[in-house]
Amino acid sequence: MGKLVIHQEKIEDIAALISICPFGAMTASEGKVEIGAACRMCKLCVKKGGGAVEFVEDAPKLSVDKSKWQGIAVYIDHVDGRIHPVSFELLGKARELADKIHEQVYALFMGENIGSGAEELRHYGVDKVFVCDKPVLSQFNIEIYAKVFESFIRQVQPAAILVGATPVGRQLAPRVAARFRTGLARCWIFTRTAIWCRSVRPLAAISWQKSLPQIPVPRWPRCATRSWRRLSGPKRRRARLCLWQ
Ligand code: SF4
Repeated sequence: MGKLVIHQEKIEDIAALISICPFGAMTASEGKVEIGAACRMCKLCVKKGGGAVEFVEDAPKLSVDKSKWQGIAVYIDHVDGRIHPVSFELLGKARELADKIHEQVYALFMGENIGSGAEELRHYGVDKVFVCDKPVLSQFNIEIYAKVFESFIRQVQPAAILVGATPVGRQLAPRVAARFRTGLARCWIFTRTAIWCRSVRPLAAISWQKSLPQIPVPRWPRCATRSWRRLSGPKRRRARLCLWQ
């Protein structure tokens, strides 16, 4: 965007400078010219102000190498190793999308004594299951779980992250998204480039699906939560098991 900077020392005639603005956005106060909220950024004062007003561009934003962010990760919600059905649904959706864009599906599974659950996940359309099995993860602790989640994202760099909108997921997803300064949407439909957000009323969203607002997410990874809808799960398929430390 940019901003206007007034060089007070270069102003020869305050009244003449103020009269340039067609929107009355410039005012004089205690011998100084100020630009108010009425400014439309027409830059007329820059052109005709004799150098007294300068337009300064914003500093360029840090660019992100999008090619480094690949794949779709699903956080596996569970209670004592028993996986919540929403995680299977998300794996199915992730698989569907990943097949279209030729990317991989990852599952992040953390807890204690979750070996059998991790083994089961290998049959649900996942390319890689990342397992963090530690005593410290036996009970849900937001700080510890978010730290492991963050470490996973930094190393694996998934382009998108799906989290079930469970009591745990609703706490964890915003915390993790905030650590990467990325957006978090309650998602109805999810694509590689955008998230279609669910309407306030779920029933309305079902009938008005075509008019759901599309939210482009400028930063990576893209994070979304999704409620459990009792949809059909993915087909069984075997995946590699990666132990996550
Ligand atoms: S940019 Fe245009 S609207 Fe803003 S202060 Fe200058 S002349 Fe007025």
